[in-house]
Amino acid sequence: MKNHTVGRAGYPDRDGHVSLDASIMDDQWRCGAVAALEHIAHPISVARRVLEKTPHVMLVGAGALQFALEQGFPREELLTPESDAAWKAWLKTQTYKPIANSEMSTYGHVPNSKLPGDVHNHDTLGILALDQQGRLSGACTTSGMAWKMRGRVGDSPIIGAGLYVDGEIGAATSTGVGEEVIRNSGSFLVVELMRQGLSPQRACEEAVMRIVRRRPETAKSLQVGFLALSRQGAVGAFAIQKGFVYARCDQNSVDQIIPAKSAFL
Ligand code: ASP
Repeated sequence: MKNHTVGRAGYPDRDGHVSLDASIMDDQWRCGAVAALEHIAHPISVARRVLEKTPHVMLVGAGALQFALEQGFPREELLTPESDAAWKAWLKTQTYKPIANSEMSTYGHVPNSKLPGDVHNHDTLGILALDQQGRLSGACTTSGMAWKMRGRVGDSPIIGAGLYVDGEIGAATSTGVGEEVIRNSGSFLVVELMRQGLSPQRACEEAVMRIVRRRPETAKSLQVGFLALSRQGAVGAFAIQKGFVYARCDQNSVDQIIPAKSAFL
């Protein structure tokens, strides 16, 4: 299992618990989310059940787990031997240091680093879709920041931060240090900028640059990226650091991997 940033095998929090965040939204403003969910391998499916079966938008922690079990999802141990070993290596230094999909890291160990636990340690799987009838939807799922404090929730399950869909305008999702995305209501901001006439590309750039302008020093060493899709099918993506890639797929092409432009080259 090579992916340590979502679901089973996701890196745990500082106390060794794998806790997952996910959200889903459609063009009718229907949305569902789970946060700090443990022991369920596919939190996005539970988020969908929240949307379909409850009067609520978000369930968290023990309540989210109870709901998932009631819905028939199997309870699993999500901490794999490999993730357990990485966590134990991290415990030797206990340095909280986000390292994501940027030039500073690769999908694996940070080049030239000898620090235990110094690995690519956070990411999100975000999906935006437009169907043949012009209906938009989106979803995102993550195990959040490796070695986070117990109970920490990132941007991904927060509608408007990690994900936002407006059926008239477009959809956006984010990856990177969730605290920064929550601070600027990132995905909502991207969609609202599109409503004001910006292309998905320009909207992603403006949302990222607001973080860079507000926190220039902090921004130098962290990653945040946005992906956007307009109702007309135009796509945009932009990140603080180089290294954020996305896959595009339509009736003419399958999984074209495209590197996003970035603020720092
Ligand atoms: N945004 C996620 C979080 O903060 C992590 C990531 O996408 O890198 O939980």
